Amino acid sequence: MRIVRTVQELRREVSDWRSSGFSVGLVPTMGALHAGHFSLVERATTETDRTCVTLFVNPKQFGPNEDFAVYPRDEEADAEALRDRGANLLFAPGIDEMYPEGSATSVSVPGLGDVLEGEFRPGFFTGVATVVSKLLIQSMPHRAYFGEKDYQQLCVIRRMSADLDLPVDIVGCPIIREPDGLALSSRNAYLSEEERTVAPRLQAALKYVADVAGSTGDHMDAARGAAAELVEAGFTSVDYLTVRDASSLEQTSDPSANLRVLAAAWLGKTRLIDNVAVG
Ligand code: AMP
Repeated sequence: MRIVRTVQELRREVSDWRSSGFSVGLVPTMGALHAGHFSLVERATTETDRTCVTLFVNPKQFGPNEDFAVYPRDEEADAEALRDRGANLLFAPGIDEMYPEGSATSVSVPGLGDVLEGEFRPGFFTGVATVVSKLLIQSMPHRAYFGEKDYQQLCVIRRMSADLDLPVDIVGCPIIREPDGLALSSRNAYLSEEERTVAPRLQAALKYVADVAGSTGDHMDAARGAAAELVEAGFTSVDYLTVRDASSLEQTSDPSANLRVLAAAWLGKTRLIDNVAVG
């Protein structure tokens, strides 16, 4: 597995692959890799001939009071794990390579990018859509792999990619969880031992609300109750716990709509997000 740090090297490698007739899969990450990330890499290596993983902690998607400075970073361990899993290329650019002095353009997805996470993390999805569109244009893969763990992010990236006519298939991959149900996340490392025992309650709350929504019960009431129970169980606060249309992320009363339950909640100083499908 080669490690490259410039867009020029990335382009050269990928264009060599494409001219040899290989299909190319891209897996964008911020590093601190775990089994959730590896599931995307495994899917890419299964479905395409060459897999490129990107590792870039994107400053544009962190708010001023968020954890950019302390976000876990271990490129050496990540590279070794990716090599073992059959990735062919690691693109690990510095900040100046991605955002050279004077760079000014950003990509926004109004609507989808303004609700839920967008409400609590203003600017977050503009940061995500900007970096992901750059990575897709830089590498020109046939397919790009994203986790349903960040469900709204997946919706925003699908919208952005369709709107910009990017010639890439966006592939959503299932959430990988700990045996007790906690969705794997690089930020789980912030949890204390006690918080870690409470954390799986988030998925349990989502499943409960999904069951109510699936049996055409009053899911608004169930969501309010589940949020209150999370706080009783030890969560510090709940930013949102809500049932939405699975594509538009709007509230809907259409009984035939495909639904998703999504939540973000604080456990001490750690913010956890998770979601489950209805039905
Ligand atoms: P991140 O490094 O947090 O930006 O995540 C990189 C990619 O891995 C994103 O597409 C995430 O949705 C995906 N991912 C993170 N955690 C998981 C998980 N537990 N299961 C599946 N995919 C995940």
